[in-house]
Amino acid sequence: MKSALAVERLQELVRIPTVSRADAATTEWTEFTRFAVALRKLYPLCHSRLERETVLEHSLVFLWRGRSSTEPSVLLAHYDVVAASNEGWKRPPFAAELSGKGEEQLIWGRGTLDNKGSVVAILEAVESQLEAGLVPAQDIYLCFGHDEETNGTGASAIVDLLEKRGVKPIMVLDEGGAIVDDVFDQIDAPMAVVGVAEKGTATLRLTVDQQGGHASTPPRLPAAVRLAQAIVRLNSRPFASHLTPTAADLLRTLGAHAGGFTGFLLRNVSWTRGLLLPILVRKSSELAAMLRTTQAVTIIEGGQATNALPERVSAIINVRIAINSSLEATLAHVTRAIGDQRVRITVESPGEPSPVSPTTGLAWELLRSTIEKSFPGTIVTPYVQNGATDSRHFTRISRGVYRFTPFAMAREVRDTLHARNERMLVSSYLDGINFYRALIASL
Ligand SMILES: [Zn+2]
Repeated sequence: MKSALAVERLQELVRIPTVSRADAATTEWTEFTRFAVALRKLYPLCHSRLERETVLEHSLVFLWRGRSSTEPSVLLAHYDVVAASNEGWKRPPFAAELSGKGEEQLIWGRGTLDNKGSVVAILEAVESQLEAGLVPAQDIYLCFGHDEETNGTGASAIVDLLEKRGVKPIMVLDEGGAIVDDVFDQIDAPMAVVGVAEKGTATLRLTVDQQGGHASTPPRLPAAVRLAQAIVRLNSRPFASHLTPTAADLLRTLGAHAGGFTGFLLRNVSWTRGLLLPILVRKSSELAAMLRTTQAVTIIEGGQATNALPERVSAIINVRIAINSSLEATLAHVTRAIGDQRVRITVESPGEPSPVSPTTGLAWELLRSTIEKSFPGTIVTPYVQNGATDSRHFTRISRGVYRFTPFAMAREVRDTLHARNERMLVSSYLDGINFYRALIASL
């Protein structure tokens, strides 16, 4: 059976531990080479009929020439994965073991969801369409980054290359939202959430410097306490929620499928927002994150000795900037909330929110109708993504950047992203291949 072979190929590729590490010197680049060699063997038509090149040695770009080059598309995914050790895994992370039967069958392993599963599903779809003799109407690029997980430069280098060649994709489809049925309790039907924008991700550092001294004679306000005060103040003044057009789109879509008073509030969100937003923010941290900038303390540092006052203490604040806001506005809020000039605020890594891709027009309609056909009964809705992906670089050359992974991901499965026991339903993987097949045929 053909799908059994598709599963075997995914297993073979998950078993190659293409782990990207923040320190490139400790990354096992031979595994990345091994992965590329395995692709060549597993997808011979993709390699003989498509033009293939490598960017920064390990990112892969395939060009499938269509009958025309005027409206190209990009299918984007990354094949590096986050590190995993056997500890705490029910099945080893790089063994690609199968468990269960039929619709319940699972494939276990790092990268199945994020994001090797997509790389492989795309190649499966292209290979089978090549076998069927399909020639796409327009050029299709397959771009597979090698360092997304470490916020690397692979994707931006790919964009540099395409930009130089004057490629202006009408659609770029990257990882992102998925098919979910447990995010919005108002809705029973599965929903395909498609990221049309992503929040900015920035790191701020709060630092307090102070004369050190012996712990036996502390000043009234030691550096650590001043920092703690700043953190508490910041935490007690959350960013304001705003109803962006994307959030309004999402809420109206929910409203169209929800009954009762909630449905009424959602459908009429433009004038019920004053009542609705506070309820939503309280009810769901996922919805709350979509409506406002969020901030979280991730690292606190300071102190060298158990009996000495630290001369410097600092905290890292990870902020996710709402799409209608900016780093500048975020800094202004943080400065005001802390209200203490002796707490120095610096930006360690800046990241503005992305532009918002349209939810009208050819690319969106194509994506929406392909999702509806491939996953009958699924409601398609735009949303704002919290995490940063490689796709943000593509906003330089395309207005139609969408973030959607065509796999069903229930909460228990979503919770394994970047965590232990990452796994995917085999049926989801096969549905994903069919989705890419259909999308390719309509591009
Ligand atoms: Zn990813």
